[in-house]
Amino acid sequence: MSLRLFNTLSRSLEEFVPLAPDRVGMYCCGPTVHNFAHIGNFRTFVFSDLLRRYLTFRGFNVQHVMNITDVEDKIIKSVQRTGRSLADFTGEYEKAFLADFDALHCLRPNQLPRATEFIVQIVALIQSLVERGIAYQASDRSVYFSIDKYRGCGCQYGQLAHLNFEEMRSGERVSSDEYAKESVADFALWKARVPDDGEVFWSSPWGEGRPGWHIECSAMSMEILGPSFDLHLGGEDLVFPHHEDEIAQSEGAGLQPPGQRFVKYWLHGAHLLVEGQKMAKSLGNYFTLRDLLAKGFSGREIRFLLVSVHYRASFNFTLEGLSGARTALGRLDELMAKLTELAGGSTETIASGSLINEFTDAMDDDLNVSKAWGSIFNWIHENNKKLADGKMSREEAATALGTWQRVDQVFGLGPVPVAEDAPASIKALLQDRQEARQTKNFARSDAIRDELKSQGWVIEDTPKGPKLKKL
Ligand code: AMP
Ligand code: ZN
Repeated sequence: MSLRLFNTLSRSLEEFVPLAPDRVGMYCCGPTVHNFAHIGNFRTFVFSDLLRRYLTFRGFNVQHVMNITDVEDKIIKSVQRTGRSLADFTGEYEKAFLADFDALHCLRPNQLPRATEFIVQIVALIQSLVERGIAYQASDRSVYFSIDKYRGCGCQYGQLAHLNFEEMRSGERVSSDEYAKESVADFALWKARVPDDGEVFWSSPWGEGRPGWHIECSAMSMEILGPSFDLHLGGEDLVFPHHEDEIAQSEGAGLQPPGQRFVKYWLHGAHLLVEGQKMAKSLGNYFTLRDLLAKGFSGREIRFLLVSVHYRASFNFTLEGLSGARTALGRLDELMAKLTELAGGSTETIASGSLINEFTDAMDDDLNVSKAWGSIFNWIHENNKKLADGKMSREEAATALGTWQRVDQVFGLGPVPVAEDAPASIKALLQDRQEARQTKNFARSDAIRDELKSQGWVIEDTPKGPKLKKL
């Protein structure tokens, strides 16, 4: 079976066939670094991490790009309010974001471009739109994208969001980055400097100013992945206007080879809800990752919850749901501890068999994680039964461990983290040993065990994971 993904552009499941056989270009709209990201934001980032990992599992060579939006309307407002410099302000939240991203076991993207480092490319892209007559400088000195001119060239505006253009007014202008479908209008590419911008400005052929949010992503994605690439991801709120405008700008510049689109597959993750409403800073109903860590949950447990629900399914976040995830993950960890004990150092692991097949079939179906976890929990049940009946051999235990490790390359939960009691240097050694075991580097894991022993600590593998005990 082949991998099928739901393309927002066609509103249908499509077979995933990359533009080039040797590389998959994937761009995910990254965080706006003006505050701590909430776990709704992280639902989207964990979804893109899951897709990247699954594509890798399926043998694709993925180039994953995620931008950092470090200049836009909300950031400028906060910079003005706090009196800090742009770099100082956004630097703090970028750092916090990446720490949270790591805590959720998301693999770092291959590139993390910052908008402020792509001003030259942004200006060049706007310039080519001006030269083609699709963008113009208005009396407020800002440069706007002309929807009428774009449509006049035979291009279609509104295809991603499925806008009914005939019912809309056009010819008006909108200067803010965020606006609703009802106010579709010429949008700002370059915003002329105003007193409220303070020191946040760059020079350009149209005078001092700063880029609009939408053009940033067009410029960064095309600069790094080329004018036509495979996958573009984001949360569902980005379909309009952000992604619609990205298509217009990128295709309006006419850089794509004949017959190719800016992006082949558009994927959007559904929002994380709280009591039926979108989790959002503006509604005040949000949890940051830090809030949940402070309540004693681990990044691993939160990741498990996020990867247990299909990315397009609605998902109501509750603390009870998170506790339930902790219990379910505990069942998996308990089995792994028993298998590890039985397998000893045996390396005869064959990562194939029915679980891998069922997992692949489920994930090929637009990342159907619910079906995949169904198979995994059946598998856990069967293995527990075999163990309880004393019918599992050492080799079978090693095979089961190898099978889980293969699946977990996609879910990215990793081994049970080390318990809290020992000094940091000892815990770090135990963590290294866990990683060595996961990569089947048993020589290293044995060497670490010896090293720990020489420092007066022994490892006990318990159903709840490895524990350190003082000799
Ligand atoms: P921002 O930092 O606001 O630009 O958002 C970063 C990403 O989080 C974008 O892809 C948004 O679509 C996504 N996002 C925002 N709110 C939610 C939510 N409640 N659930 C899932 N994704 C969200
Ligand atoms: Zn974007």
